[in-house]
Amino acid sequence: MNFLGSCELVVSACGMIDDASESAASLFAMSVGALKGQLLLNRLDTSSRDQLRALWREWSHPSTPPGASREHALTALRADGSLMPSLAVFRLRGPGQSGRFSLRLHPLAARPSLNDSQLPESFHDALTGLPNRRGARELLEASLQMGAHAGEAVSVVCIDLDNFRSINEGYGHDVAEEVLRCIGARLRQRGQGLGRVCRSGGDEFLVIRRSACSEEEMRHLVPQLMSAIQEPIEVGGETLIVTASVGVATHDCVGGSFDALMQRAGHAMSRAKRLGRNTWYFAARDPIPCLQHQAIKTRLYRALEQGRLALHYQPIVDLRSGELRAFEALMRWNDEQLGEVSPARFIPVAEESGLMGALGAWTIEQACRQSAAWREAHGASRPIAVNISAVQLQRGEFEHDLRRILDAYAMPSGMLELEVTESALIHDSAHLACMSQRLRELGVGVAIDDFGTGYSNLLYLKHFHPAKIKIDRSFVQTILSRDEDRAIVRAVIDMAHAIGARVVAEGVESGEVGRMLRELGCDEAQGYHFARPAPAETLVAWLGPQPGLACSEGACAG
Ligand code: C2E
Ligand code: CA
Ligand code: CA
Repeated sequence: MNFLGSCELVVSACGMIDDASESAASLFAMSVGALKGQLLLNRLDTSSRDQLRALWREWSHPSTPPGASREHALTALRADGSLMPSLAVFRLRGPGQSGRFSLRLHPLAARPSLNDSQLPESFHDALTGLPNRRGARELLEASLQMGAHAGEAVSVVCIDLDNFRSINEGYGHDVAEEVLRCIGARLRQRGQGLGRVCRSGGDEFLVIRRSACSEEEMRHLVPQLMSAIQEPIEVGGETLIVTASVGVATHDCVGGSFDALMQRAGHAMSRAKRLGRNTWYFAARDPIPCLQHQAIKTRLYRALEQGRLALHYQPIVDLRSGELRAFEALMRWNDEQLGEVSPARFIPVAEESGLMGALGAWTIEQACRQSAAWREAHGASRPIAVNISAVQLQRGEFEHDLRRILDAYAMPSGMLELEVTESALIHDSAHLACMSQRLRELGVGVAIDDFGTGYSNLLYLKHFHPAKIKIDRSFVQTILSRDEDRAIVRAVIDMAHAIGARVVAEGVESGEVGRMLRELGCDEAQGYHFARPAPAETLVAWLGPQPGLACSEGACAG
């Protein structure tokens, strides 16, 4: 591989070269002044122009995240009429840059083996036509070398299908192969924007990307790949749904190796598996989070043993009557050294370190004890919703522990609800459908939490008979400003009602949002507008006559 040195251009949304480096000017054999103000299209050969137009069309869509980047092999047209084949890396600039993008050109004296079609036959997988593991190694090593040369990072997205063995065993080899072929084709089609797609092993795919993946960017791109995989596959008269666990690792130091980066991406993927599958995990770039992880694990273990964890409760109100419907129990941990640690931070650590079973049982017990105390003090209580992690549900002891606690506190039917995220349900649907039936028999309702952030197929969820669907606050909070989110919320409400579930909106921070939700037919809501999560003793007023700040006709107007 032989590079002549790279150079950079800044291009406006209408394709004008706004700025150019000295090296860019010499690549085009002209001065910086002459290059600035030219249309980029005029400095490329004909086939490169078409590629650029296609990219523009795609990036003009408002959903393209800032920082999106793309590689293309382009041919630059020099002032003397000669052509210079180059590898071009386009990057959409941040907000406030009105659609400008930067373009880094790496002129290639000899083309490195970056193009799939340049790889020999034996570097391709016969089933999907994608580069195989040897091909992936070749592509990744070339990318690492180029990255080192250009001072750019390289990322690897490792995609492993969940429970693929059960397809092989349940439906046979031919069906399994068809599934792989279909997923390979979908990834090839939809993964293009992310990088080069390879099939690195049995049910494992890779995407190699010649630039750093910010976590923000991955939040947009990886779920798109995951939902492409999850679309139903029709094969041999069956409809199959396959999910995947995804790990992302980025190498941004010079001189990385294929094995080191693959190992980190593989570890991140394994973490996604341990987190309940059908999810993704972004490998930490520096070791500090690992230290934090260790500290949280050790101290959380002690906090649980020494009874230093607490539950706070957040009211959930009926949007029509304004009455209190239920409370959601949320875990709180204030550590002497670490300070207030968010459950969003320590729950994943508990899940990974085998602590979730004990922690989860503690939460259920604590909530039931509180419910019993309220019943005793006020004669009546309200249902308490407890969050259940996917890891907890997979434990054989889960149901046994639950029955024991329900008995110990003589919990009346309907007083305990379990909130489970969509991804937890999809993971082992047959087992969970049976479990949700048994939970109903016990008088325990299941709510689907964070609805909209996962697979979001209500028809598919129908056989869980959820009592409630909780719409994630990312949709709720933009309901007034984004027509699209309002339409999504409306559709979720209609579909949930069609399968007999009530709908709860999360994160309602204003009366205006509450009123809009009520107009859309949403049943219940929770959020700072009504009350923040608080210790049980401060919520006593909610259990007596209604405190009057709920979203009754007048209260939601403000
Ligand atoms: P979640 O189940 O979606 O819980 C709702 C989160 O939204 C809570 O964050 C709550 O404090 C916050 N919230 C409520 N109203 C508003 C609002 O109006 N605006 C905004 N911006 N936020 C609001 P929290 O307490 O930090 O919990 C975060 C997540 O941690 C929870 O998300 C849940 O997934 C998990 N979690 C909390 N407690 C437990 C637990 O006991 N067990 C398990 N497995 N997970 C828990
Ligand atoms: Ca919840
Ligand atoms: Ca939620």
